[in-house]
Amino acid sequence: MVSTTFRELGLSAPILRQLENLEYKTPTPIQAACIPLLLQNKDLMGLAQTGTGKTAAFALPLIQQLSKRSGKPPGRRVRALILSPTRELAAQIHENIRAYARGLHLSTAVIFGGVGYASQFKELAGGLDILVATPGRLIDHLERWTVSLDGVETLILDEADHMLDMGFAPALKKIVSKIPRKRHTQMFSATMPDNIRQLAQTLLQKPETVRVSPPSSTADRVEQFLCMVGSQSGKRLLTLELLKQQEFPGRTLIFTRTRHGADRLASFLSGKDYPASAIHGDKSQGRRERMLSEFRSGETPVLVAT
Ligand code: AMP
Repeated sequence: MVSTTFRELGLSAPILRQLENLEYKTPTPIQAACIPLLLQNKDLMGLAQTGTGKTAAFALPLIQQLSKRSGKPPGRRVRALILSPTRELAAQIHENIRAYARGLHLSTAVIFGGVGYASQFKELAGGLDILVATPGRLIDHLERWTVSLDGVETLILDEADHMLDMGFAPALKKIVSKIPRKRHTQMFSATMPDNIRQLAQTLLQKPETVRVSPPSSTADRVEQFLCMVGSQSGKRLLTLELLKQQEFPGRTLIFTRTRHGADRLASFLSGKDYPASAIHGDKSQGRRERMLSEFRSGETPVLVAT
């Protein structure tokens, strides 16, 4: 494959500078394919999973287009809306956007549930170039008239398959009904089941499709193996053994089926000198964020999650 540079994709100097600061040297395949299309304002269906660089693929052209606009949007109005299924993903997308758009004077915000409304009211009241939101909290704001989607020019649905799996179809329908038909729309999804195909047909106009790896496949960098274990206690001991065997001890993410199981495994591992925390829906948003940041910093190297 011929490799391209970010400059060749048509990105502007201020964005190229930020990418250099972030040490993004070459575009990932999804970025190489999407950025030129999005700079031409095409509707797009992107089939890519997390870890492929899809956030920058949609965020960089969006930031470039918005940075050419003069003036802030009027109060409560939003120019670009990015919907994400979870709070964590929404926060991460917003964090990336802030890094890519540093110095470009765009107004951006992220809103999700589980936290207070006061600061969200304030941010929305000022008008936003880019709003990243989870569907539930956005509906709450629409019902309170604290946000207007009349001025949305670009709509991006990230992890659309997860949004439908989580039961957000009615919320999406309601949100889309408030957005002008004349807009640019992009959808990203790891898989293309029938319900996603149908959603794409209703939302996108003459879309380009970009697919970077076969749907439902896993990232190449991940080595996978299966261990057969007979008992519950055997699983715990094996987990401990695998942690001990790590050649380069780093951060470890463990998934369990139940919340209770996650709590028990985390306290077992912590008792064996592997500081672990359990993250799941019973924990408050504040605690979940704290756990994620302690995991990122390496303070708690093992995270057990449902
Ligand atoms: P994403 O799939 O958007 O969640 O991105 C996965 C990770 O790759 C994130 O940590 C990005 O900051 C990083 N990333 C995205 N694009 C590039 C790139 N072209 N070069 C280096 N890192 C990148």
